[in-house]
Amino acid sequence: MRQPLVAGNWKMNGSKADAADLVNGIKAGAAKVQKAEIAVCPPFPYLQLIEGLLAGSNIRWGSQDVSNESDGAFTGQVSARMLKDFGCTYAIIGHSERRMFNAESDALIAKKYDQALAAGLTPVLCVGESLEEREHGKTEEVVARHLDAVLEGAGAKAIGLGVIAYEPVWAIGTGVTATPEQAQEVHAFLRQRIAAKSQAEAEAVRILYGGSMKPGNAMELIGQADIDGGLIGGAALKSSDFLAICAAA
Ligand code: PGA
Repeated sequence: MRQPLVAGNWKMNGSKADAADLVNGIKAGAAKVQKAEIAVCPPFPYLQLIEGLLAGSNIRWGSQDVSNESDGAFTGQVSARMLKDFGCTYAIIGHSERRMFNAESDALIAKKYDQALAAGLTPVLCVGESLEEREHGKTEEVVARHLDAVLEGAGAKAIGLGVIAYEPVWAIGTGVTATPEQAQEVHAFLRQRIAAKSQAEAEAVRILYGGSMKPGNAMELIGQADIDGGLIGGAALKSSDFLAICAAA
């Protein structure tokens, strides 16, 4: 059975004090979460602080991005090896905000995925269509392209070593959530596509849903057969909301 994963994507929010408060709040309530694995993805400057605060707990942490290069003259970038060096578990790769605002291509995202795996991190590959793409009936085409960037290159084994997050762009930060049926349909499509290469990897890989997941809708979404947790933005910034989602999983 796949253990649900609930990961908080804090994006570019908060201060050092906010980050410490938030993680201490999550730590304080985590004992009540029975089933789900919990992870937080704070902004880069606070990672080391969070790593210290989480020492000895079973809450994991991840980065929101990683370099596509291993090391060298790449000003401003952070390598997977550096993250691994001090206890990072996850690396979010190809979030739609990076595809949009940093012009990240599928080819670049595939390289980042490789770097994360090579360093021993668990990449969280984000896939998802825009509203326009959905309205034009292109959802499957788009998520297949996002998935295939890794599945066709690095292969099913590499997908099985990571996590996938289906995040419809129209649901991110909008308050509009995909219905459980809409989300399940895409999750099942992604899993079938992986199964065409490897049944075992398809059954093992966790596929998270992301996009306005909240305490009030988490249980129904995560209750779907192919939804194995959530990647949480806005609701991850309040420890009580985040913990309620973790408990629902
Ligand atoms: P949201 O963001 O929960 O605020 O919609 C999710 C994400 O972007 O990962």
